[in-house]
Amino acid sequence: MPYDTQPVASHFIDGQYVEDTAGEPIDVIYPATGQVIARVYAATPAIVERAIAAAKRAQADWAAMTGTQRGRILRRAADIMRERNYDLSVLETYDTGKPLSETTIADATSGADALEYFGGMAATLTGEHIPLGGGDFVYTRREALGVCVGIGAWNYPTQIACWKGAPALACGNTMVFKPSETTPLCALKVAEILHEAGAPAGVYNVVQGMGAVGAQLVTDPRVAKVSLTGSVPTGKKVYAAAAAEMKHVTMELGGKSPLIIFDDADLDSAISGAINGNFYSTGQVCSNGTRVFVQRGIKEAFLKRLAERMDNAVIGDPMVMETTIGPMASERQLAIVEGYIAKGVAEGARLVKGGKRIAGAGFYIEPALFADVTDDMTIAREEIFGPVLSVLEFETEEEVMARANATEFGLAAGVFTADITRAHRVVAGFEAGTCYINTYNLAPVEAPFGGSKLSGVGRENSKAAINHYSEVKTVYVSMNKCEAPF
Ligand code: NAD
Repeated sequence: MPYDTQPVASHFIDGQYVEDTAGEPIDVIYPATGQVIARVYAATPAIVERAIAAAKRAQADWAAMTGTQRGRILRRAADIMRERNYDLSVLETYDTGKPLSETTIADATSGADALEYFGGMAATLTGEHIPLGGGDFVYTRREALGVCVGIGAWNYPTQIACWKGAPALACGNTMVFKPSETTPLCALKVAEILHEAGAPAGVYNVVQGMGAVGAQLVTDPRVAKVSLTGSVPTGKKVYAAAAAEMKHVTMELGGKSPLIIFDDADLDSAISGAINGNFYSTGQVCSNGTRVFVQRGIKEAFLKRLAERMDNAVIGDPMVMETTIGPMASERQLAIVEGYIAKGVAEGARLVKGGKRIAGAGFYIEPALFADVTDDMTIAREEIFGPVLSVLEFETEEEVMARANATEFGLAAGVFTADITRAHRVVAGFEAGTCYINTYNLAPVEAPFGGSKLSGVGRENSKAAINHYSEVKTVYVSMNKCEAPF
């Protein structure tokens, strides 16, 4: 192994690595080979206690620093992440199996963008002055919430650790972050870098573990806010547990997003959107446009051209820059995807291309293209979280809008058309938090990102995230004598 993938210790608490081998062991498996590349241990209750206590101790002093000081630390961390992008990308690839051609441009770089953006914003976070009658006025103070818990999924471990940590820290909160047990390595690097950049001990802590550790964090009374990236079933549990104590939440959950392609669209551009919206990260992207509605007149041309372009995918060793499709992140996820593909065939969808497991080591499967998919099929209703693209045919705008919105999810949605009036009408009609016109799946830090309906609560990134990591205190100031009726 050219890179040392074994971390110094399992957890990062109070500014240092901490080990406790009494916890359940978690073997980290490189998805491209199936080899164990590191071992960490789930946090014991004592470790969770140490992490929350450290975050609690550090919070008041961190919040008392000026926004300029906090922001400088975040921006320094962004610079370090960019300097180390290559090494961090290699680690991300070991953790997830995503090809280096992606991780070098979409993970540490995206994390650095969040640190830079919220670092730049930290000094601008202020309240407002509200004049009232008779000289009285109100001013508001934008205050930190306290200790925030971040819980991550396994598809973007560096990015998720930063997308939650950067706005939380900018607002003066401290964080305890629990990465997914499938990808425990990258968040430790984020913690290391933040502290190297000057974040005081206890400001950003990482603990490992499965759902039980997450649940312990969520229910701790010292925790003011929980931000989860994960599936809808987990989201419901975490949201309910947080609600019991009226904690703030951000829920970034799953989706089954529609991508509508009208017959006037630029065909190759629309096919690029469908490829980016289904096969990037081997299909393990929450916002993927997995229900591709194609207007009848262009459907066969679309399928033919898409199948041709899928021949250009380079499936293989994720450490080779030319590779565009890596393995699934875990054997379990591979089995889930295979199960859905079998169901698609059994329920009568036409498998145009791919969908076969690739023999040998590693969790590889060919990207799958299904045609003749109908709205009631399992592959059109449930989130698969793998490289499975379903083409559904439609005739009219009215019909396709009703079908696109007929889902309990509402994370993302996209439309390809040359008709600008129609494009804006369609996105206005989408029941989804993140919409695209003539592109798909971009998530710049400047733009709010999040879901409607069962896909989530709150927004990450952009100025909108600030509202989810801070609260407003109202201060009424009287300039007059206080009077009472008796
Ligand atoms: P998951 O729901 O199985 O796990 C997510 C995290 O929650 C893990 O860290 C897990 O350990 C933890 N967890 C599980 N049970 C818990 C509990 N009871 N209390 C607290 N924490 C608990 O999801 P996953 O399989 O890791 O990730 C895939 C899912 O995440 C997909 O549904 C995908 O769409 C979604 N996702 C959403 C976004 C988004 O931004 N909307 C981004 C990436 C992934």
